[in-house]
Amino acid sequence: MIIAVDGPTASGKGTIAKRLAAHFGVPHLDTGLLYRAVGRQVAINGGDPDNPADALAACAFPDELMQDEVLRSEETGGLASRVSIHPDVRKALFDRQRAFAEQPGGAVLDGRDIGTVIAPDADVKLFITASVQERARRRWLEMTGREIEIPLIEIERDIVNRDARDINRADAPLKAAPDALIIDTTEFDQNGAFELVLEAVTAALEKE
Ligand code: C5P
Repeated sequence: MIIAVDGPTASGKGTIAKRLAAHFGVPHLDTGLLYRAVGRQVAINGGDPDNPADALAACAFPDELMQDEVLRSEETGGLASRVSIHPDVRKALFDRQRAFAEQPGGAVLDGRDIGTVIAPDADVKLFITASVQERARRRWLEMTGREIEIPLIEIERDIVNRDARDINRADAPLKAAPDALIIDTTEFDQNGAFELVLEAVTAALEKE
């Protein structure tokens, strides 16, 4: 069983994917971390994230980098969204994601192109979204909780820029697969959103 969870930044898709994986007892891959690792590795190499060759070279990042807290920073998120534009980077990360999706017993993957490119054969496809203001508020709360001071307006601006880059890139843009269940979590807290999702996923699996 493959569950694909896509959506824009700070939509809550990561938490939902993690909880779905725990509920169904299958492993979970946050594919954004792969792009974040590439973005971070470009910076470590002193390269340019907008240069396709520099970004491709950074795909050879060491596995330990995936555990580094710095991957969660806004700055690394921005770098990730820049390196993810390059088709060669997406190709270099494809096999790893596809192998994860195909493992026996199934998996949950979250990202931007899981339902459209990585696992178009997924049993259930979700597209999780929420308003820009709500996503900025959630990100701000999360960062304040980690004692990172950043004005809300700056986060909002960053989210708008990242959405634009993810939606408008030519290769594997952020979009819902035609058969995805679109779930807007703007009005829900984490538990409420998860209940909504679980109901939708259970109903979709029963229909199969
Ligand atoms: O989900 P997260 O914010 O960690 O993703 C960081 C960036 O990586 C996104 O803005 C997006 O540009 C890129 N990404 C992608 N495809 C994925 C996952 C993430 O292009 N499957």
